[in-house]
Amino acid sequence: MKFKIGSIVCMCAVLFSSEIEAQSNTITYKKDGFWQQQADYSMSIDMDVESYQFKGTQTIKYTNNSPDVLDRVYYHLYFNAFQPGSEMDARLQSIQDPDGRMTTNIGTKENPVFESRISKLTEDEMGYIKVKSLQQNGKSLSYEIEGTVMIVNLSSPIQPGETVNFDMEFDGQVPVQIRRSGRNNKEGVSLSMTQWYPKLAEYDDEGWHADPYIAREFYGVWGNFDVKITIDKDYIIGGTGYLQNADEIGYGYTDADVKHKGKKLTWHFKAPNVHDFTWAADPDFIHDTMQVPNGPLLHFFYQNTMPEDKLDNWKKLQPKTAELMQYFSKHIGDYPYEQYSVIQGGDGGMEYAMCTLITGERSYGSLVGVTAHEMAHTWFQFLLATNEAKHEWMDEGFTSYISALAMNEVMDRNADNPVSGSYRGYVYLANSGVEQPLTTHADRYSINQAYGISAYSKGAVFIAQLGYIIGDDNLKRTIKKYYDDFSFKHPKPMDVVRTAERVSGLELDWYLIDFAQTTNTIDYAVKGIEGNTVTLERIGVMPMPIDLTVTYTDGSTEDYYIPLRMMRGQKPSSATVKADWAWAHQTYSFEASKTVKSVQIDPKGMMADIKKDNNTFPASE
Ligand SMILES: [Zn+2]
Repeated sequence: MKFKIGSIVCMCAVLFSSEIEAQSNTITYKKDGFWQQQADYSMSIDMDVESYQFKGTQTIKYTNNSPDVLDRVYYHLYFNAFQPGSEMDARLQSIQDPDGRMTTNIGTKENPVFESRISKLTEDEMGYIKVKSLQQNGKSLSYEIEGTVMIVNLSSPIQPGETVNFDMEFDGQVPVQIRRSGRNNKEGVSLSMTQWYPKLAEYDDEGWHADPYIAREFYGVWGNFDVKITIDKDYIIGGTGYLQNADEIGYGYTDADVKHKGKKLTWHFKAPNVHDFTWAADPDFIHDTMQVPNGPLLHFFYQNTMPEDKLDNWKKLQPKTAELMQYFSKHIGDYPYEQYSVIQGGDGGMEYAMCTLITGERSYGSLVGVTAHEMAHTWFQFLLATNEAKHEWMDEGFTSYISALAMNEVMDRNADNPVSGSYRGYVYLANSGVEQPLTTHADRYSINQAYGISAYSKGAVFIAQLGYIIGDDNLKRTIKKYYDDFSFKHPKPMDVVRTAERVSGLELDWYLIDFAQTTNTIDYAVKGIEGNTVTLERIGVMPMPIDLTVTYTDGSTEDYYIPLRMMRGQKPSSATVKADWAWAHQTYSFEASKTVKSVQIDPKGMMADIKKDNNTFPASE
């Protein structure tokens, strides 16, 4: 998603000698000790576009690849969040800075009083998933629903290696759009169908992840999806998955002229190896496609009812989207699907499997920017698929980083540091007194602003600053190797750091500990200069290697690099390398080659020093 915080806008190996084998839509992993669950979905729903209610059937073929016997499973029923009295409603009413999209200001501009929009939903406006029946291998199961989570006690525990079928019948109601999914968003898109179906919770080496839906994002089980959606024939659908019956549907999915019979059409989609299935539908959608050379077919769905200049932006967006796809594929890794869709819907921008939902009536720059951000999520949220409740910064942060670089190139911005906004955001947060460590559960930040800056800005700084520590070429190789080794595997923070260690040969665990697991901050200073001698001081607790530039009294300059001893090595550098700095020593002096006039630490601004005024000496420089 894209996150806005006050004036700061954040755009938003374990070298497992592993092999991914793609065979007939299944992926198997050969890696010592690694396992993950598999959930293959077959679903059919019948949507009533007048009442926004739908009836569904679902079969999940669930394979327990864990070494554990499972006597329970959990389902997410996300639509239940959009009910008065839900945890999402309660949180909205108690947090100091609620999301403006989810509240109505019933006070004044000067003295706002925020009212939860969820608290005002009537019976026919709220969202729900009502489970009508559930069977395991044909035998009825009992279940209990606690808000957005359904607890199923199995009559027959699932053994390691066993595959079972769960058959469910359910009724759903699409809520008035409050957040992410819903009916009739503010731009009038009829159906934004995200987190709309009963979804099995993920079980991994850290156990169950049956997180309630309070505010933050998702984590799911990989599997193959077969989905049939029956809906009034006037509606045009875009979403996850390949349409199987284009000949019956038409609507830009085939060039053939298709005549629709009857009142409704059934759309049949298949999506191999995804952990989510999303769709949106509207009778006013224009459907354009564009082929990315050596890449997927891009689909664009946007309403024909928007003003002419906004429609024009959607045309101009299309070649830029192709360029973005090529940028990310080159700099992270190949996009492994044949299709990607940019769909007008939702309430801002949100990433999903093989698609994104974005609001569409935007300026050209904003439209390209949100598409860049959401498409970049494809690699981090969808294909690497980190647990976003626990490690949100690995998704939002890395996405913000790479999309800022992509925008810099695709839009010819030529910024020296495309991530400078993220650095400013992080430094603001670090000095604000409300920062919590990146290990905080995404729902447990005290205020939304602290979550936002942490996940987006500090997460982006984490990866950009890693380039400062190990060198830019090593960072580029790290990002590609991280994707190569961990796509489709739900990586964790240590996986990124171990990848960087393997690529650079440097010891980096201190970086993860200090920057992600604490709120320790970086503050280095130039203490003084005397003749050829430069003295530096470490004021903050967090260690860092130091790049600095010395200007001599004769006007010439020289770059120096001071390695950090605990890294047991140094990045490739063309600067003059001095003796390493052992962290516990608070000061460090070295001899420059000529009489020193002034010194500047980190002139490129890639180290997230939270007090910059002492980085230059004399201070006036
Ligand atoms: Zn995002």
